[in-house]
Amino acid sequence: MFSCGQSHRTYQAKILFKPCYHQASGERSPYQQENNMKFTYLGHAAGYLETASERFLFDPFLTGNPKASIRADRIDPTYILVTHGHSDHVGDSVAISKRTGAPIITTFELSQWLEAQKAKVESLNHGGSQDFSFGRITITIAFHSSSVTEEGGRPLYLGEPAGIVLETEGRTIYHAGDTALFSDMRLIGDETPIDLALLPIGDRFTMGPKQAKKAVEFLRPKHVVPIHHGTFPALTGDPHEFVKLAKGTGAEIHVLQPGESMSFT
Ligand SMILES: [Zn+2]
Repeated sequence: MFSCGQSHRTYQAKILFKPCYHQASGERSPYQQENNMKFTYLGHAAGYLETASERFLFDPFLTGNPKASIRADRIDPTYILVTHGHSDHVGDSVAISKRTGAPIITTFELSQWLEAQKAKVESLNHGGSQDFSFGRITITIAFHSSSVTEEGGRPLYLGEPAGIVLETEGRTIYHAGDTALFSDMRLIGDETPIDLALLPIGDRFTMGPKQAKKAVEFLRPKHVVPIHHGTFPALTGDPHEFVKLAKGTGAEIHVLQPGESMSFT
């Protein structure tokens, strides 16, 4: 076991850090240097990106997630980014937003639904970008669905699902959300070179490893972390099969266990 802050090497010879989560003090991790960003996989589609000045929390499905690496009341983001309305993505975002004051950045209809629950929100929609103090957010298309199940089992539709492009401190991070493969991913990669892409590979509800490999070819990112796999038995896409398939794409694929981190410059 390695403890908080100690590094160890994976088979990919990338230095990983056991996450040191920020508590309410807002204290920075000793590893968080100006030119170094740290991404921690929290399980399923949830991730935590620590930059020099902000802490971004993606799709925080923690409560009820059998693979979650941290409890919802232990995390302290400055912004929450949510790709679509399904419960395994919205997750604990309202509770975390209320506790920390972090706004939830997401699509229009979903932001209305979250605001009605007294969360702080910032809404955008597909194709639009917005500048924030930390940089820029763009909402991209994703091919999936976006709803919550109301009492009685009826789905309430919450607009269209999205991918999110975050440009901050000279780096670009793309969270694809849940999506099928689509060739316009090329345009996302053309718009701004992607440093880190978070791509679903679990199959059944999203791309599987084969489609995700094609997505890597379209997006041309430097680094990729496969997400949305293995949380439940239905998500059978194998990250190691994805690593094999994606050899030769030029991207470095990082298979992170929930709770593992990678740093990238
Ligand atoms: Zn979904």
